[in-house]
Amino acid sequence: MRLLVVEDDKDLNRQIVTALENAGYAVDKAFDGEEGLYLGETEPYDAVILDLGLPKVDGVAVLQGWRRAGKAMPVLILTARDRWSDKVGGFDAGADDYVTKPFHVEELLARVRALLRRAAGHATSELVCGPVRLDTRASRVVVDGNPVKLTSHEYRLLAYLMHHQGRVVSRTELVEHLYDQDFDRDSNTIEVFVGRLRKKLGVEVIETVRGLGYICAAPAKA
Ligand code: CA
Repeated sequence: MRLLVVEDDKDLNRQIVTALENAGYAVDKAFDGEEGLYLGETEPYDAVILDLGLPKVDGVAVLQGWRRAGKAMPVLILTARDRWSDKVGGFDAGADDYVTKPFHVEELLARVRALLRRAAGHATSELVCGPVRLDTRASRVVVDGNPVKLTSHEYRLLAYLMHHQGRVVSRTELVEHLYDQDFDRDSNTIEVFVGRLRKKLGVEVIETVRGLGYICAAPAKA
């Protein structure tokens, strides 16, 4: 899952980005409304954290710009305390959720998880595909009840496929959603990661669809 954080307060931006990265997400960052607007219009994010008080272009205008451009990713806005009108303006502009500053980073993480799974049509924080269970709260994976240790890239790959299970996901889509913009992206590496992931899981839940990509599906019962 790839996220964008638009926040002009450098310390807060760093704090949010670090927490999200530690939780296993690929994260891009912007420090003003203009940069944020551009990134949100041109890159495919799974969710965005958007401050409303931003230099150059304010947050509500950024959000309106994305929605006008047909960008439907979930957006969580950061608002100042006691500014109820900000929240109303944000929701009217197309926000999906909000957090009031100052906030606990755990709350932000929980809200982001909820946005991501709702956007993918899941009701709970645990995703299940056959014998594989992925707990998005603890970033843990279990196969037939046994914990499996994955690297952050392998976890991201599996989480993305499991959020979108039953649908073919192309290699290009994976590259766009698993890495931040600074990463040296190469779609060949996806194949390598899928190979390692399959080996670690030890069960057939990731199928290759020749020429199209991959699909996560529960294995047929033998
Ligand atoms: Ca601000």
